[in-house]
Amino acid sequence: MDAEELRRFRRSLLAWYDRAARDLPWRRTHDPYRIWISEIMLQQTTVVAVIPYFERFLARFPTVQDLAQAEEEQVLRLWEGLGYYSRARNLHRAARVVVEQHAGEFPRGVETLHDLPGVGRYTAGAIASFAFDERAPIVEANTQRLYCRLLGYASDPKSAEGQRTLWQFAEDVLPSKQAGRFNQALMELGATVCTPKSPDCESCPVKAHCRALAAGLQHAIPKPAVRPETTDVTHAAAAIRHDGRWLLRQCGAEERWAGLWDFPRIELAPADAPHSKGALTAARTLRARRAVEQGVARLTGLSIEAGDLLHQLRHTVTRYRIRLLCFHGAIRATDVAPTASEEARIRWVHPDEFSALPLSMTGRKLAEVVQGL
Ligand code: SF4
Repeated sequence: MDAEELRRFRRSLLAWYDRAARDLPWRRTHDPYRIWISEIMLQQTTVVAVIPYFERFLARFPTVQDLAQAEEEQVLRLWEGLGYYSRARNLHRAARVVVEQHAGEFPRGVETLHDLPGVGRYTAGAIASFAFDERAPIVEANTQRLYCRLLGYASDPKSAEGQRTLWQFAEDVLPSKQAGRFNQALMELGATVCTPKSPDCESCPVKAHCRALAAGLQHAIPKPAVRPETTDVTHAAAAIRHDGRWLLRQCGAEERWAGLWDFPRIELAPADAPHSKGALTAARTLRARRAVEQGVARLTGLSIEAGDLLHQLRHTVTRYRIRLLCFHGAIRATDVAPTASEEARIRWVHPDEFSALPLSMTGRKLAEVVQGL
């Protein structure tokens, strides 16, 4: 775009944003702390899902100091259900960095923000521009699609060349003033008008500047990403009660739900797994019970006997479609005791205490099941 076209593009976009912007809680502030929390929550998650989490989180941790002082478990509890829990752990670590290394003041400047745990190039640009009005470009899912269409960029936007092109465009279109509002407007246009499957070009405020529309390619650009194939897996868990309390285990740093609590659970080898969609034959169920006994011993150091099937449920995490079988379990009388490191990860929990602990999503469902027993 030449200078005159760029001026018209900016004017049209900002005038539209004044009329059409959604009133979202994180848009009513320039507080970098609130903007940062919202941006981390919005990664891979919809606006509608984020709003109640955002409000609860800010009510509990109104300042970066409050977040830095919290226990990780409290942070994970408030994050429970949002998924991608590394976001919450990084948020907590970053809050401590802000307090310890920046005297509790959010750093300015994309480079310094980028150094915070969990803050990538986009998030750094968003905080810098929304909170401090720095002229920092942004590219995220919605703007990536929008820029591809505006430019008529038909190659892979995720490639190195694609990223260079789109970040350069993001920088070129930014005005020197009101960079934050302008970035918000670009994101809003991508989210509400230039949508993935049915862009509303008719009512688009920048349609006069769109190369994809001019070429009739608005539905073909960008090329849809190839989705990884879904894999079926079977997990087995044990619900073990002793003196009115249930055995829970905290997932280790290398595990999928790191830091969250769950009923002791393992992934079954295909040979031990009842077919993911098929019937639970007696032989397969027996193999699954033996496997969960060995798994619980390995994870907790406790010897158990797995009994009848208590409950089963299905859930999907990223590309895995998981069938979870939960068996009743009973502690066997034995001399074997957990090691100190195993013991640090297990807890006997009274049902009244379930609500205070961060549980995996399926752990929460199983907790509801055992509460009724
Ligand atoms: Fe997107 Fe259509 Fe607007 Fe182009 S004209 S930016 S494809 S909504």
